Amino acid sequence: MIYKQYGNTGLNVSAVGFGGMRFDTTKSNEENAELVLYAYDKGINFFDTAPGYCADKSEDIFGIAFRQLSAERKKFFVSTKGTPSEFDTSQKSQDAVDKSLERLGIDYIDFYYVWCIRTVGQYELAMVDGGQYEGLLAAKSQGKIRHITISSHLRGDQLGDILAKDEFDGVLLGINILNFGYRWSAVELARKKGLGVVAMNPLSGGVIPQNEKKLSYLAAADETPTQAALRFCISSPEIAVTLNGFTTKEHIDMACMVADSAIEFSPERLDAIRKSIPEGASGICTSCGYCLKDCPKKIPISGYLQIYNESLIADRSESEMAKLIKDNHSWGLLADKWADAKDCIRCHRCEENCTQHINIMDRLEVMDRWEEKAYELEAKELSQKSDT
Ligand code: SF4
Ligand code: SF4
Repeated sequence: MIYKQYGNTGLNVSAVGFGGMRFDTTKSNEENAELVLYAYDKGINFFDTAPGYCADKSEDIFGIAFRQLSAERKKFFVSTKGTPSEFDTSQKSQDAVDKSLERLGIDYIDFYYVWCIRTVGQYELAMVDGGQYEGLLAAKSQGKIRHITISSHLRGDQLGDILAKDEFDGVLLGINILNFGYRWSAVELARKKGLGVVAMNPLSGGVIPQNEKKLSYLAAADETPTQAALRFCISSPEIAVTLNGFTTKEHIDMACMVADSAIEFSPERLDAIRKSIPEGASGICTSCGYCLKDCPKKIPISGYLQIYNESLIADRSESEMAKLIKDNHSWGLLADKWADAKDCIRCHRCEENCTQHINIMDRLEVMDRWEEKAYELEAKELSQKSDT
């Protein structure tokens, strides 16, 4: 494992962080806690969680592991989070910190994120008098939090304006080998300000492992595209920690293996990759699901958008996309859906919530066109079956 400085804090953190958003929830909390202890034994000392992750089990799972590691508390770092909209007063914000401390079984939280800032308005809400940030300052003065940090999905320039105010010690950003072309300015800016930079989504929400063949241009001769994507973040001097959502010991082993031999990408190699990435691939849906919560039509938006990803990564024809949708109707992302792409009433709510700022409504319109063809294919198959 390699270790890096977390911004100007003087803390030495493992380049690989344990992201607690992909535990296997069919397993018991105790079994999942074993995974956390396994990661700690492999040298990982940075653990990231949030209320709500993994059907709200994530903080409890870490809590089981941390209680077993209590004698070594100074040797590892814990981050958790709260949104300004849910904890919109100083008191609620402090109560949220207390609750997380209790669940995590620790006396202090190393990094507490003002979470999921997708618009400047959400940041402003956190900063109002008597709001979340004020509560976090109070918790910090009581020793319950060591560092107040921000988790952002803002554009680089918007984030720059916020970071210039010196209110945060670190930033969590969705950065990976497919989107670095348009997100990198925020990383450089954060580093310049002396903030710790933590990367989330290094595998673009699973898109890279699921499309290794098409993304082979990302990899050097002796690695897979998935390993190359991890190496990109882990080896970058600008990024302190790369969060990996681990589900199995094998996932941990692979990330640690990459970290043990992480050679930085040369500027020439990055330039070649940048040129190979198809236009639009930076707008990949990461399947985070934030768009789903307010859709009045209950459209499975992230399912549609993940299928749309295919057309961004590979050169797919209209009939190939229709076939893909047809397959997903039967057994995939669109099985058991409540509504079709055509049911969208363009209310904008999903786009306001989208962490990747995707023009969801336009994509659904395209998906509707392909879906019509998918239904034609299904009808044709059905009539052929009834003829035989
Ligand atoms: S714009 Fe369409 S998909 Fe988005 S929330 Fe509104 S109805 Fe749902
Ligand atoms: S469309 Fe946006 S919010 Fe919805 S799952 Fe994809 S990236 Fe997340």
